[in-house]
Amino acid sequence: MHRRLIAPGAIAASLLLAIPASAAGFEPGAAGIGDPYYPASGNGGYDVAHYDLRLKYQPATDVLEGTATILATPTQNLSRFNLDLGLTATEVRVNGLKAAVATSGAHELEVTPAVPLPKGRPVTVVVRYAGKPSSVRIDGWTAWHRTPDGGVAAQEPESAAWWFPSNDHPLDKATFDVSVAVPDGTQAISNGVLQSQSSRIGWTRFNWRSDKPQATYLATLAVGKFDITTGTTANGLPVLNAYSKDLGANAGAARASIERTTEVAEWLEGLFGPYPFNALGGYVPNVTSGYALETQTRPFYSPRQFANGSNVSVVVHEIAHQWYGDSVSVEGWKDIWINEGFARYSQWLWSEKEGEGTAQELADYVYATRAADDPFWTVKPGDPGADNLFHGAVYDRGALALQALRGEIGDENFFAILKGWPAKRAHGNANVGDFVAYAESVSGRQLDALFDTWLYQPSKPAAPAAAGARTASEAPAGRIAQPKSWKKIAETNTIHETGHHH
Ligand SMILES: [Zn+2]
Repeated sequence: MHRRLIAPGAIAASLLLAIPASAAGFEPGAAGIGDPYYPASGNGGYDVAHYDLRLKYQPATDVLEGTATILATPTQNLSRFNLDLGLTATEVRVNGLKAAVATSGAHELEVTPAVPLPKGRPVTVVVRYAGKPSSVRIDGWTAWHRTPDGGVAAQEPESAAWWFPSNDHPLDKATFDVSVAVPDGTQAISNGVLQSQSSRIGWTRFNWRSDKPQATYLATLAVGKFDITTGTTANGLPVLNAYSKDLGANAGAARASIERTTEVAEWLEGLFGPYPFNALGGYVPNVTSGYALETQTRPFYSPRQFANGSNVSVVVHEIAHQWYGDSVSVEGWKDIWINEGFARYSQWLWSEKEGEGTAQELADYVYATRAADDPFWTVKPGDPGADNLFHGAVYDRGALALQALRGEIGDENFFAILKGWPAKRAHGNANVGDFVAYAESVSGRQLDALFDTWLYQPSKPAAPAAAGARTASEAPAGRIAQPKSWKKIAETNTIHETGHHH
């Protein structure tokens, strides 16, 4: 058999003729992932599988230096792509080669690789960056808490841009290795398992691993001086809680709440099925904010959550999010109900278990105390709008919607759905319509009218059928007694009174 010899130059020339560069189909990725509430959030054209963050943070100066190695796969032929970052990138390499960089918009880092990136072929992006997170303002606000002994990144719907470059939207989840060097005597807390820590010439490095897909806003970093408690769950998962040494009078109540995380998670496993991640815990830094946030495996709690004594209900809320919000994440921010409606309803179920008011009594109380002309009823939990993302109605009316569902389909179907949904959608994303379809498939009932009434109508629905028990019927005729748990649950509402958050 003869081989035909073709000069390489001839191939190149013919390819150029066949596929002129301008028509080769390599185009810039979009500057946003397509979220109608937050058009600039995330980016188009690629999907991240893993973030490797190697950081050094100096509490005295609030200077953060980092190298982020991002493993991603283009979902289109890319001539250019964006990352979201508020700090300053000093060098970007794509597949080892220096890339051209520019900034635009509120937090866009535009990366033009030396060689265009074909769809489907994995790429490695290395970003060297630095800056003072406390000096970064994006659209006029900050997700970074500067503390007397360090700093904390924990916010929703955005916080990543203050400490690492990313595709900053829950649709693009990835695994994380976070390695942070801080001065000896200071700790760095992040998500997942503390794999190792070591000290060298005055710096201690903490190596954290979160080995299941994690949304960027659920990644957290806290540097400061902490008291750390550790343990193991009955299933062998490592538990690590961290408390700022600076909590003052809130220290006892914070511990009396968060040290019950293992117990709470075990109870929630009975409702929702196996805990979805590799570690468990919580942390309380010395911040002045009032909210809590379900940062993956290790929720963030503001000290103020414990200003009136212990509050296990907020722990129930944040740990419930590990299934509802963290493992099953919103597809877009309009789907916030699939996080918050269920986390709030978990607090109602905990109240019922503790004998402090049943879910039905809490539902009755919300329904009775919100008059028909209360603006509360104008917020649609199924599509609240960006301005009302964390409105009380997303929580309380959102939980009422679940109690109405329970009344409609009965306990057996209802609790099968609560347990089945996190398994069906584990480590993925979903929208409200997906949940409605799932509830219909499990119950065999047509439920769109019920969900339309409770999630999408800007008015007070007619009283639903009751479900489950009522116990505390000691109120005067015509009045609904306030359930014992009401005040503690209401205290967790500060979560949505402080700007963005939980
Ligand atoms: Zn929440």
